[in-house]
Amino acid sequence: MDGDANNGRESARNRLLPYKFGKTLGFGLSGKVKLAVHNLTGLKVAIKILNVRSIAKVEAEKVRREINIMKQLCHPHVVRLFEVIDTPSYVFVVMEYMSSGELFYYLTEKGKLHEDEARRFFQQIISGVEYCHQHLVVHRDLKPENLLLDSEHNIKIADFSLGNTMHDGHFLKTCCGSPNYAAPELICGKLYAGPEVDVWSCGVILYTLLCGRLPFDDDNFAGLYARIKSGVYPIPNHLSESARDLISRILVVDPMQRVTIPEIRRHPWFQKHLPLYIAIPSPRVFRRTEMIDVDAVKDMVQMGFDVHEVIRSLQNHLQNEATVTYAMLLHSRYPAHVSRQDENPETLACMEQDHVQTYTQSASPGQNNWTLGFKSQASPRETMLDVLTVFHGLNVKWKRIGHYNMKCLWSPPPPRCSVSTAEIPGRSSDAVKFEIQLYKASGEFYVLDLQQLSGPPFLFLDICAAFRALVV
Ligand code: ADP
Repeated sequence: MDGDANNGRESARNRLLPYKFGKTLGFGLSGKVKLAVHNLTGLKVAIKILNVRSIAKVEAEKVRREINIMKQLCHPHVVRLFEVIDTPSYVFVVMEYMSSGELFYYLTEKGKLHEDEARRFFQQIISGVEYCHQHLVVHRDLKPENLLLDSEHNIKIADFSLGNTMHDGHFLKTCCGSPNYAAPELICGKLYAGPEVDVWSCGVILYTLLCGRLPFDDDNFAGLYARIKSGVYPIPNHLSESARDLISRILVVDPMQRVTIPEIRRHPWFQKHLPLYIAIPSPRVFRRTEMIDVDAVKDMVQMGFDVHEVIRSLQNHLQNEATVTYAMLLHSRYPAHVSRQDENPETLACMEQDHVQTYTQSASPGQNNWTLGFKSQASPRETMLDVLTVFHGLNVKWKRIGHYNMKCLWSPPPPRCSVSTAEIPGRSSDAVKFEIQLYKASGEFYVLDLQQLSGPPFLFLDICAAFRALVV
């Protein structure tokens, strides 16, 4: 027993080694939150420390629920959970650090906000809440205390301890949340499906952002509940017609008549100055985990990680030092509001399928372009990843056509002389375009086909030779 406890302590200590702990950020119901730095990446994180032995069973259950919910979510407006370190006495929840604190304090200092600023916050909140709902997660305790701000004053939704996962056809019946932000059906103890209670809370938040005070408030609970159930709130004169209209569609007592998130999205007030990444909520935009970022993997190799181990861990969705470091590298590299794909579509290796389509290539008649092939016994995913890693090192740019098919462009590095490339006639055409396709050959072999599309043949041979030197 003692041996087991010692081993447990030892492994916990080892798992905490990557972090240097700093000041305490705050105290919550279930434990304290500390600032820490991840040594390898230098990323600041917030670590929630929970003493599982001292907290009540119900609290421990809440924490477990929060962890399970947050683990599933990866969105620019939801606080990211990097890892959970479970020890016999403590649970350490490593999260994204939100340096500007709670929206609550921001509002306390500023009072009511200008409509444009309120709109920006509201758009971000709706985008995050919509994402949670799409993942069948309803927060149930949305309020400014649970909306944190990063260094650029972007909102992220935190504290999912009251969140619950929705199941088709199941209604939830737990009264939870903070009374001022709670929907009428919640305080009446009626059955509710979920999303509409978050929509109501978003309406209360919107009102608070624009008016600097709560729509429903009273000295006692009975008075407060009566106000919420009546759905009557004061409308300040300074509110624009459009903002008023949106609030009045959200703060509707009957949940069946209340607007839905898609309807909020279409409202003219919401649509104004809507950033592109929120306007086009492509399901792929936020699925960073399915892409392998070559730059991040290269950096990790320099840190001493084994490339194959990193790729294997990422592909198998393991939680270990490699995947945590990788997630932190991506996190520190790409700002929350810029999607990875929008920023650089070329460094994308999204390989979801396990099989490789068989591919027969027919060169057009009269085409003299070269075709070269390389054989590999590794899995198709690994082969493509190795190929793209080598291409990245060679400064080849690529565009993904299919999982195993890319169009590539390579320009050799400029000559080392004092004449600038602009002064060399025709220099800009010194680039070669080619296509790569991985296909299944006989047995366990996969063949990588490189086909020249345009450009000087010698350049194509140069890049093939450089490629071969690095992959063989
Ligand atoms: P509660 O249990 O009351 O919901 P938490 O345990 O979530 O509170 O948080 C306690 C304090 O730590 C709060 O004041 C909150 O602002 C701060 N905090 C929580 N998470 C983070 C974070 N990711 N970044 C910065 N501060 C945080």
